[in-house]
Amino acid sequence: MKIIGVTGGIGSGKSTVCRILKKLGAALIDADKISHNIMNKGSLAYNECVSFFGKCILDEFGEINRKKLADIVFNDKKQLEALNKITHKYIFEEMNNQISQNLDKDLVVLDVPLLFGSDFPIKCDATVGVIADEEIRVMRASKRDSAKAEKIRERIKNQISDKEYYSLADFVIENNGSEEELIKKVKELYRSIIA
Ligand code: ATP
Repeated sequence: MKIIGVTGGIGSGKSTVCRILKKLGAALIDADKISHNIMNKGSLAYNECVSFFGKCILDEFGEINRKKLADIVFNDKKQLEALNKITHKYIFEEMNNQISQNLDKDLVVLDVPLLFGSDFPIKCDATVGVIADEEIRVMRASKRDSAKAEKIRERIKNQISDKEYYSLADFVIENNGSEEELIKKVKELYRSIIA
């Protein structure tokens, strides 16, 4: 079994690449999905977050309101670090759990937004950076969730550059073309990793 980490900035097509790899037979582990699930009411991460940030982060059903939490940690490095310190251990534990459930697979794909931005503790056999031109990323991301173009551009500015992906990742996929072109590139990637 091989483990690869797939990463990329907003609107780059990272999750699309992961979905294509899944169709080709890989097991997919989605860090974003896990980070949502570990915050569900009653979970250990939920309890730690509520004790640290207070009940002001809860909605009327007692669930963590992610928007409220995001507002607290946005632009406050200390609070963000505190949140990461609480959540990362649970996220990585669950990712490791899911890896151990897929030991029979040829390939396990980790969909991780911040593979290079933090101390990522899971050893990958290879890393893949998905990149696309800024205008294309803005168009894709705004079409997907009707976010404002300026907000997306602001996020892109704070994310790592294409040049950095070329120096950090073992493979870089340029996703400026059609989905068909992307599928072709991902199939080649799959073959070269599995070989
Ligand atoms: P985020 O980090 O913001 O979640 P992402 O990098 O995971 O973004 P995706 O969700 O894979 O990006 O793609 C963003 C949008 O762009 C989706 O609606 C997806 O269907 C579309 N998309 C991705 N690649 C292509 C492509 N080559 N051609 C057309 N649409 C694409």
